[in-house]
Amino acid sequence: MNILLLGSGGREHALAWKLAQSPRCDTLWAAPGNPGISSLATCIDLDATDHAAVLAFCEANVIGLVVIGPEAPLVDGLADSLRGEGFAVFGPGKAAAQLEGSKGFTKDLCARANIPTGGYERVSSEASAMAALAKFGAPVVIKADGLAAGKGVTVAMTMDEAEAAVRDIFAGRFGEAGAEAVIEEFLEGEEASFFALTDGSTIVPFASAQDHKRVGDGDTGPNTGGMGAYSPAKVLTPELQAEAMTKIIAPTVRTLANEGMPYSGVLFLGLMLTAKGPQLIEYNCRFGDPECQVIMMRLESDLVELLHACAENRLAAIEPPRFSDDVALTVVMAADGYPGTPAKGGAIRNVAEAEAEGAKVFHAGTALKDGELVASGGRVLAVTARAGSVTEAQAKAYAAVDVIDFPTGFTRRDIGWREVAREKS
Ligand code: ATP
Repeated sequence: MNILLLGSGGREHALAWKLAQSPRCDTLWAAPGNPGISSLATCIDLDATDHAAVLAFCEANVIGLVVIGPEAPLVDGLADSLRGEGFAVFGPGKAAAQLEGSKGFTKDLCARANIPTGGYERVSSEASAMAALAKFGAPVVIKADGLAAGKGVTVAMTMDEAEAAVRDIFAGRFGEAGAEAVIEEFLEGEEASFFALTDGSTIVPFASAQDHKRVGDGDTGPNTGGMGAYSPAKVLTPELQAEAMTKIIAPTVRTLANEGMPYSGVLFLGLMLTAKGPQLIEYNCRFGDPECQVIMMRLESDLVELLHACAENRLAAIEPPRFSDDVALTVVMAADGYPGTPAKGGAIRNVAEAEAEGAKVFHAGTALKDGELVASGGRVLAVTARAGSVTEAQAKAYAAVDVIDFPTGFTRRDIGWREVAREKS
């Protein structure tokens, strides 16, 4: 079958790598792709916001499956446009993608379906937000309602910080995404991510992971898209996973289906493991980046079969996904300045030599300039290794990182530190 993959990040390189391994995959196209993806797929210039152009491409190239990597085209309804013309698509339609596209939508759904999550209030003006803050007190969490590329959330430890975050949102910092906001109870615990595949009725648990959002070692400094991750996250025990399935994922999928917004694709849960059990922090409607890189490194099943079964509502009829018992760990190499303005154009050398160390190097923000690989974005590479423990996978990934010559880039040096500490004790 011919497959079209949309996106250009490390997540999409990992998906392309796994899709291309399938005997079911004939021609793999990627739009726009990146230099890493171009060794696995034919990269094309196709604007995902132009639904008619994507449709015309799919018709002309007899596409059997469209895999939508990032959230923006999903929230924008691209999956609906393609399904409307009979194409098989991996990813939810616009209505169900509100799980990621509107934090208020998700909180209201949790309230209707009795899903464990922090208390909240939806607000649409500075005055109502300030009144809600006074009720919650600090610490408290303030979230712009819509997509804000990870920058719309403030965990405020003091009322001053909380009030500043509210003023910021209603001064228009996030545009339309900040027309509304959610004031949310502060939850305490360790965070973990859990992924499930669903076709709208059947749900299969997929994988767990833990990522590192802060830019600096020891989880310090500003938030980023993610500086590294590992999978599985042992802290999410089989019991906690079962609890997340029955108390969070199943009622979400059921409620959406009952309300005429069936969810098809991957459901990505951000969980806080609190003293009262796992509570939902957020939903994403696509694979995480860099969580996808570590999950794909462990996946033994045929990814095309899994994603196509999701798209065609026949997940119940196929074998559940199989994973290696190994741990996979990825270290993101970012360009200097990230998560502020990243330095672009810096040369990157020795990627093949790093892979010879036994790691897999996924490209994110890279470009080719006069035949040389250079940085073109904030997060540039995801250096990923597999081993029997987090400690070993971490050592293997950093050995490969140290081979890469990227003078205008940096990494954290402690990805996986919580689990490394647990493995030592
Ligand atoms: P954006 O919408 O801007 O892309 P996001 O979707 O990444 O942001 P969340 O995942 O909801 O936003 O929140 C980001 C981080 O803030 C979480 O990973 C978590 O560390 C922290 N956080 C969010 N909600 C809470 C909460 N209720 N209690 C404690 N910490 C929280």
